[in-house]
Amino acid sequence: MSSRSGLTLALFVAAGLGSPHLAGSGCSVVRTSTSHNGRLLLLGTALTSQGVIDARILVNNGTIASVLPSHEHEHSGWADLVNDIDDHLTVVRCGPDAVISPGFINTHEHIEFSTVRPLADIGERVDHRHDWRVGLRGYTARPAPVNETAGTEQDATRWGELRHLLSGTTSIVGGQMVPGLVRNLDYADGLEQPLRSWLHECKDGEDDSAVVESDLAAQVATWDTFPLGDAQGIIRIGDCDYSTSMVDGAAVARMHRYLPHVAEGVDDAAVNEFKCLSNSSFDMVPLPPGAAASIHTQKERRDDTQLPADMAKADESTAQPPGHLKPPRPVTQTPGTSSDILGPNIGLVHALGVPVSDYPLLAAKGVSVIWSPRSNVFLYGKTLDIHALLDAGINVALGTDWLPSGSASMTREAVCARDISTIKPISKSTVATDAGTSLNEKQRGLQARTIWQMMTTNAAHVAGMDGKIGTLKAGAAADIIIVASSPTTPSKGRGLGDAGREASGGGDDESYYAKAIYAEPASVQLVLRGGTPLVIDTSLQDLVPASSLSSSRCEQIPYSSVVSKILCLGHASEEQEEEEWYHYRHAVETVAGKPMSYAQLIRDHHAAGVYPAFYPPGEIPEDEPSCVSTR
Ligand SMILES: [Zn+2]
Repeated sequence: MSSRSGLTLALFVAAGLGSPHLAGSGCSVVRTSTSHNGRLLLLGTALTSQGVIDARILVNNGTIASVLPSHEHEHSGWADLVNDIDDHLTVVRCGPDAVISPGFINTHEHIEFSTVRPLADIGERVDHRHDWRVGLRGYTARPAPVNETAGTEQDATRWGELRHLLSGTTSIVGGQMVPGLVRNLDYADGLEQPLRSWLHECKDGEDDSAVVESDLAAQVATWDTFPLGDAQGIIRIGDCDYSTSMVDGAAVARMHRYLPHVAEGVDDAAVNEFKCLSNSSFDMVPLPPGAAASIHTQKERRDDTQLPADMAKADESTAQPPGHLKPPRPVTQTPGTSSDILGPNIGLVHALGVPVSDYPLLAAKGVSVIWSPRSNVFLYGKTLDIHALLDAGINVALGTDWLPSGSASMTREAVCARDISTIKPISKSTVATDAGTSLNEKQRGLQARTIWQMMTTNAAHVAGMDGKIGTLKAGAAADIIIVASSPTTPSKGRGLGDAGREASGGGDDESYYAKAIYAEPASVQLVLRGGTPLVIDTSLQDLVPASSLSSSRCEQIPYSSVVSKILCLGHASEEQEEEEWYHYRHAVETVAGKPMSYAQLIRDHHAAGVYPAFYPPGEIPEDEPSCVSTR
């Protein structure tokens, strides 16, 4: 052993890096930085684009600086790191029951509906979204108004973002936003650091804040509930005479990302929406002057009963909360005609009615599909043929849709994705004997790794953020979660370390992905957004400066008699702190008109009977909508 490597080893041991795994489960802080904005080293089993590795992940300045397999620590990168060990390095070491994953990306939410309860199941499964939205064709209108007794839409948005953050989601396309919680990929000022800096840095020397914001707005996703302007419940078959506010197909091509609801239904009316947005020769005859008005008048006459309160949702594609900049959604000059918007910047939300025979077209055009299986099944009795989508080579990402009919968290959406994708019910004994041999993904349901990709890398692609989020690799934002075995349902045996993998022939990576994507909130040990710890298990409380723990910047949330998490929304690196804390306090105090206190929110919201921000260990979300197909 050379003196250099001897020194290296000594430094590793001194830094707490010597042993790859803890004897027990979970993670612990084995070395604490003395500075507020030091570097963070995570040691443990990591889900990376190269697969599952025993990794050493270095986080510096909000970014993943390096990810290396632990056995490569003698390479020059690690020699540099070791030489760099100083008072500014914090080390978290995880045991065999923990996995490190990119934070989840939720590509579809109506986040302002986060304080309502799920719709009661009245047994109806409808053919098109307007059937339940406005009660067309004899179906029951299902109003889902924002819960006004629980506060404003901003209160509900904050509550919803909190619920997703607590369950391991770090980015959302949600239609509304508050700063300081998850990243909002559809708002310039919801991107959070370091994405904001990265996306703007190409504009050298530009410091006019209005220019910066509009420049950033061009790089975020445009979210659209009614691309055909059909919010009032307009259904067409055979033509595209929807409204005068149909989206401008030519303008769509210039958008960074356009994520429209298309074909949310299972009938010809749903198919018609897809035709009007995918085939420019389907209807080349514009609306005659005055025709749109007559459509609306006709509609109003037909529905002179009061429209549901959900109609407020009708205009959300153009509405935005004051102060938050989202890209415009241009209206066509030739209403009533079809257009072809398909392209690699398009992510179709739901797309339930898109014929399977058109999947190759979506694939050829590079179109993504945003899949919300629970909401599809609850409202329409079925979801897309996910295997056909994947077989066609289409990029698929998961989204929770909204609380009234969807999942309360991405992890519950993942459970639905798994359950709904099993074509043939198979007995447990069959799985036990044939697992990994004769049963393929169509019979066993989607593999955990496939679903994990839909929640991370595929989702980053939908938002146009490839390589920036949703991945554990050098150069990405440090949006990282750590999940350990649930305190109520611990995994059997150890078996999760390298030794366990080798013993099972190296084919057991599934269990690592499963641990991350099906995690209950209590199992989430750490949530970092841009390297900043936001949700911290009490076992890792050394990550939080004592001054923050004792201040109003961090609060302890009890999940059960034995599980508590620390929520630190004001804790950030010194550069980030001022901006983020300002934004957060600004959002809370000026929009809600009261100071932020999680405890106070709980009291206020429970008084209003809102849906909980987390579900207790060992349980599932209250009144969770069904994920069982009925047709
Ligand atoms: Zn939706």
